[in-house]
Amino acid sequence: MYDFRIDLVAEWITGKGANTVALQMPEGLKVHAQSIAGEIEERTGVRCVIVADPCYGACDVDRRFTDYADVLVQFGHADIPSMHAGPNVLFVEVFMDMDISALLPKALPLLKGTVGVLTTVQHVRMLPSITRWLEDNGHPALVGKGDDRIAFEGQVLGCNITAVEPLKGRADSFLYVGSGNFHPLSVAIETSLPVVVIDPLMQEVRELSELRDRILRQRHGAIVRASDARRFVVLVSTKVGQNRMDLAWSIRRMLEENGRKADVVVLEEFHPDRLLPFDADAYVSTACPRIAIDDHLRYPKPLLTPVEVEIVLGLRSWDDYRLDSITSD
Ligand code: SF4
Repeated sequence: MYDFRIDLVAEWITGKGANTVALQMPEGLKVHAQSIAGEIEERTGVRCVIVADPCYGACDVDRRFTDYADVLVQFGHADIPSMHAGPNVLFVEVFMDMDISALLPKALPLLKGTVGVLTTVQHVRMLPSITRWLEDNGHPALVGKGDDRIAFEGQVLGCNITAVEPLKGRADSFLYVGSGNFHPLSVAIETSLPVVVIDPLMQEVRELSELRDRILRQRHGAIVRASDARRFVVLVSTKVGQNRMDLAWSIRRMLEENGRKADVVVLEEFHPDRLLPFDADAYVSTACPRIAIDDHLRYPKPLLTPVEVEIVLGLRSWDDYRLDSITSD
């Protein structure tokens, strides 16, 4: 099912003249790590070292790799161009071209008018055939390109749906092809338009309005629970593509200007236990936007996003709610 593009990887490694190569990949691909390492070693004569720590995205390059390797190859994610990972890091997209011909007709009745088509990097190569199919079945189809955090047309990240921007006012509904709900959930909240998911791995079609309403209720609850909070801890990730230190300082300033206390805490891996020593009525995460949405139940105090803090302080109305995003500006 996966194409690890070993030819491309071997050529790049040889061109770099590397002796030791670090291999990083998300959990779902780690089961293939040893065979990939073996193949690369055989083809290039280098030594490979496999990174076992979690790797959540291209944002999560192991910056310590220069301590134990000459170059790093990260599989499964597209580069985040604005992150400037450096010349000794190679991102290898692992494309998955899957048969969704049985799913497209099921999605059709849920779509409206002109359809904006979005996907993750795994499936970007499927976009031309999907747009063609939609056009042949009466729906003009549009694909937008996101900002400098995005490598491919039509690609979205969990933290970045800027590929939607050029389609605003032109698309009447969105079709997202990919697994999971987080990416399309942002689109559903941001646009209030119908968002239909074709999940090639689960081989199912789903519409997101119920999930959108449930998540909005949860987020509203977190905001209400934090409304009396006096002391905040603003969390900053040290991961290279998640680090928003400037934002953290501006949130602290905003909290203090509105009569609250706030400390800035940095950490690499988010875990509720790491926050136990700190006195706080609420936390604010400036790291991956998924943490506050997916993991909030694990935290004993409300875990807010930067947008949600503005609502707590009365600086933004609930009607203007957005999921947090990390963009290139
Ligand atoms: S910040 Fe989160 S959503 Fe964005 S690329 Fe990293 S892991 Fe994915």
